[in-house]
Amino acid sequence: VSPKEGPVCEFLGPQKRIATESCGDIDPLDLSEYQRHEGFVALKRCLDELSSDEVISEIERSGLRGRGGAGFPSAIKWRTVRGANAETKYVICNGDEGDPGAFMDRMILESFPYRVIEGMAIAAVAVGAHQGYFYIRAEYPLAVERIRHAIAECEAAGLLGDRILGSDYSLKFSVKEGAGAFICGEETALIHSIEGGRGTPRLRPPFPAESGLWEKPTLINNVETLSLVPWILRHGGDEFAKFGTETSKGTKVFALAGKIQRGGLIEVPMGVTIRQIVNQIGGGVANGRRFKAVQIGGPSGGCVPASLADTPVDYEALSSVGAIMGSGGMVVLDDTDCMVDIARYFLRFTQDQSCGKCTYCRIGTKRMLEILERICGGEAKKGDLDLLEDLCQSVSSGSLCGLGKTAPNPVLSTLRYFREEYEAHLAGHCPAGK
Ligand code: SF4
Repeated sequence: VSPKEGPVCEFLGPQKRIATESCGDIDPLDLSEYQRHEGFVALKRCLDELSSDEVISEIERSGLRGRGGAGFPSAIKWRTVRGANAETKYVICNGDEGDPGAFMDRMILESFPYRVIEGMAIAAVAVGAHQGYFYIRAEYPLAVERIRHAIAECEAAGLLGDRILGSDYSLKFSVKEGAGAFICGEETALIHSIEGGRGTPRLRPPFPAESGLWEKPTLINNVETLSLVPWILRHGGDEFAKFGTETSKGTKVFALAGKIQRGGLIEVPMGVTIRQIVNQIGGGVANGRRFKAVQIGGPSGGCVPASLADTPVDYEALSSVGAIMGSGGMVVLDDTDCMVDIARYFLRFTQDQSCGKCTYCRIGTKRMLEILERICGGEAKKGDLDLLEDLCQSVSSGSLCGLGKTAPNPVLSTLRYFREEYEAHLAGHCPAGK
């Protein structure tokens, strides 16, 4: 029986578990337990009762948008691959999570491997693919091990392999371990990596849905996106769409971390505010410090100041305040955190992870980082802030892929909301006492 009040109730009360359904109730590796919790009911329904168009229509009605960061409507991707005129198609589960502070995909893969497999199988059947790949970073050995184990169990039970669940549909899944390059989370780089090449992005179009893995139509969805699919097919898209806001439906999983009393993996209906997450679910800022900001969306995201903490978790609302939903990293910052240092931290990460293909990203982020180092080190020169802002615009507009385009975001958002901290550094002191 759940307590009616107290920390557990505060932590769990505002949450809605769909991707993380049955959290704590099932053994992640026990297939029969997953099946006792309605596991693979949705896949069976897709094979026996629903046409591909009907499955995709449910996804469309749910309003599901990609949880990897971009928020692209999933049904459009699915329909494009479905409609592609090709005998061979692929599905890929993107588990190449690498943002600092993010651990959503890892936890979902480790805790709910059968749910992700079922979601991916439904996606494969809907688009007409018979082969799928889990692309999981090698730094997640437990996730790799559990997905491999779960695939083998599903094959033994006739849920994967030849003629699945007594149908005439054959479906094979395998695992490809990524080598730890952050850029391989970008779809076209990920495809190059599976093909055995270097993980570098390419220009789009053609989009992977038209020409992806080995130039075949390929559906790529993130781990969390796929983990939501079985629930949507069991309950219907309309039920899923009852959660959330006008444009951001359903739930979102966040890795709540940083200066927070109760961190961890949470799943909330879209539309709850940052303040609710920090104060109610997270129990407020740790050690009685003052709440300063949250950094949302990792190195592609931005810092939302405490004064805007009533912003709802919604793709459009977050981007209107200079942040992005991203894949779900949410790092809480207090008054001892230096915002210039935070911007430098994230830029150092993106600079390090730039694949080097385009000049603006390769060189531009390096010049930006040098300026931030100068500012943090008390050696900034006159005009450095103007130069930094100019470089933000150039890197953002001149880069090929999302890594470079969004690399300036942590700098831009901290300049927007905490410019006085930059200016204080120029005057020789750090307000956070760093
Ligand atoms: Fe590589 Fe950066 Fe260009 Fe993306 S923007 S292709 S990461 S150099």
